[in-house]
Amino acid sequence: MDTVMSNSTLLTTPETYMGIYNELSKYNVHLNIFERLWASWYAYMQNDVLATGIMSFAMHEIVYFGRSLPWIIIDRIPYFNKYKIQAQKIPTAEEQWACAKVVLLSHFTVELPQIWLFHPMAKSLGMETGVPFPAWTTMAIQIAVFFVLEDAWHYWMHRAMHWGPLYRSIHKIHHQYSAPFGLAAEYASPIEVMILGAGTVGAPILWVMITGNLHILTMYLWIVCRLAQAIDAHSGYEFPWSLHHFLPFWAGADHHDTHHEKFIGNYASSFRWWDFVLDTESGADAAQKRRERKDAKAGKKVQ
Ligand SMILES: [Zn+2]
Ligand SMILES: [Zn+2]
Repeated sequence: MDTVMSNSTLLTTPETYMGIYNELSKYNVHLNIFERLWASWYAYMQNDVLATGIMSFAMHEIVYFGRSLPWIIIDRIPYFNKYKIQAQKIPTAEEQWACAKVVLLSHFTVELPQIWLFHPMAKSLGMETGVPFPAWTTMAIQIAVFFVLEDAWHYWMHRAMHWGPLYRSIHKIHHQYSAPFGLAAEYASPIEVMILGAGTVGAPILWVMITGNLHILTMYLWIVCRLAQAIDAHSGYEFPWSLHHFLPFWAGADHHDTHHEKFIGNYASSFRWWDFVLDTESGADAAQKRRERKDAKAGKKVQ
């Protein structure tokens, strides 16, 4: 009788997500709330590939549209017009909706199948998926490294895509908006999404292959940061409190908006150092400095 009882207790494992959460919390007091929610999700799904796939896709959509929404609202509030970089070019609601439809289509057709392959790939590379999570300092250091690696990849790939044949066949679509807005961050050819996406996904892959130490949560947080960076860089707004005023090497909208306006220069994504060192900075200030350098050189030659 006792055996039957204990079996039946085992068989009545809770079926709802919250039931699993409560049960798990009883025996795992050392885990914080996020770790419990995470572990319950995998226990509830009973299928790790599906659990990671749904979580990744939902996270991408929530962050992408959630981060774009404040910019859509700001576009409709006249007060913010003084901070708009190309002040005369406010995107209309129709333009934004047309852009959102294309982005959504690409999310479902191009990104969704790849997201589904992510869990098996992460596992085969030895990425950690369980609890407890790594220390936040570990995650912050790794994310900072990913920012630097992705920026280098982005600089060279983006610069290459401005070469005539590649520009016409791939990158032209992204340049449809000469005055960008948040939603336009991923408005691009599927080939471009894959080429540039390879930098975002490739940086952590390279890291885990070398160090063997990476949690899938760090990868998620990295992608959240990278998405926010891309959307903000396309926002079209430059504020006195924008990050590059405090971190002078941070690119931001000030850097990327000029790229869309002038079609040339400012190829990097997050930082300004590649464009600075390789003299591909865009805009009037950079052109002026280039002229001065040229004149100084010519002056020296004459002497
Ligand atoms: Zn470009
Ligand atoms: Zn862009």
